Amino acid sequence: MMVEQIKAGIVGLGAMGAAMAMHLADAGLLRAVWNRTRSKADALATDTGVAVADEPAQLAATCNVILTCVSADQDLLDVIGRLLPGVKPGSVVVDTSTVSPATARQVSASLLEVGAGFVDAPVSGGVEGARKGTLSVMVGGDSTNISRIRPVLEAISASVTHMGPVGSGQATKAVNQVMIAGIAEAVCEALALAEKLNLPSERLLAVVGAGAAGSWFLDHRGQTMLKNRFDVGFKLSLLLKDLQICQVLAQDLDISMPTVEAAIRDYRALVEMGDGDHDISGLIRLKRDAG
Ligand code: NAP
Repeated sequence: MMVEQIKAGIVGLGAMGAAMAMHLADAGLLRAVWNRTRSKADALATDTGVAVADEPAQLAATCNVILTCVSADQDLLDVIGRLLPGVKPGSVVVDTSTVSPATARQVSASLLEVGAGFVDAPVSGGVEGARKGTLSVMVGGDSTNISRIRPVLEAISASVTHMGPVGSGQATKAVNQVMIAGIAEAVCEALALAEKLNLPSERLLAVVGAGAAGSWFLDHRGQTMLKNRFDVGFKLSLLLKDLQICQVLAQDLDISMPTVEAAIRDYRALVEMGDGDHDISGLIRLKRDAG
């Protein structure tokens, strides 16, 4: 499939999907969008001039590469079910949501039945990475399908890495999320300690960020969390969902992951406090109250 032959559509225009859609539109690849809450699709169409589909199946009928970006496993299964009646043989669905490897394989099997391909392509790099088009994409699937949709992935990312067959992208993302959760636990606990020690926050962030404790999370969320701003980025209810995927993988492999268990307890408590839509850096509120 040559670049000019790609007719891409996106299903799911949340924080990540809307930003990715803008890059596909800029690259001249985007034909149609669909979102459950129609107003988001209409806003994107106003900005880009692409068509808004009334139903996912209508989008599938006009596109040969369909990118999905929805919240969780059941949401992906729901939108695939609504896409399937319109999916043409030879089309490829690329899922950028974070779901379990098992769900990726299930979706792939259902698309194979209609002669379509599937690539799992979860992303890392946050909303900032999606807006800048600098995401890191971890890809699972057949090499032929991946090379056909590569221009779509390259339009939204700085790096595309093929990890193995369908499900390998999501397995890699699970590994990524264990690290994300562990880093957030450590940084939030450390900054709560710094507040109790009355250290000057600007100088603290500068000095630790410049040394071996520096991290993406500290750089991008340190300032905002110390100012009690949790509206940016990655909803903690989504990280809780990701960690529950990691928990199932650990159970299947008969291994223990205490960091994941601690983070699940923390994010579950925050969701119960009504903070599920806060960025994951909202974890500092729990760490401030700890003990
Ligand atoms: P978000 O802003 O909450 O957007 C979720 C999107 O999914 C919305 O478009 C929503 O539609 C749609 N959706 C949810 N359930 C649906 C259903 N049953 N049927 C149809 N559409 C449905 O979430 P996000 O931050 O963009 O994250 C999307 C995915 O990317 C998640 O799997 C997340 O784990 C992953 N991710 C997020 C980040 C990040 O930093 N935010 C980074 C990497 C990966 P409505 O508009 O109608 O609600």
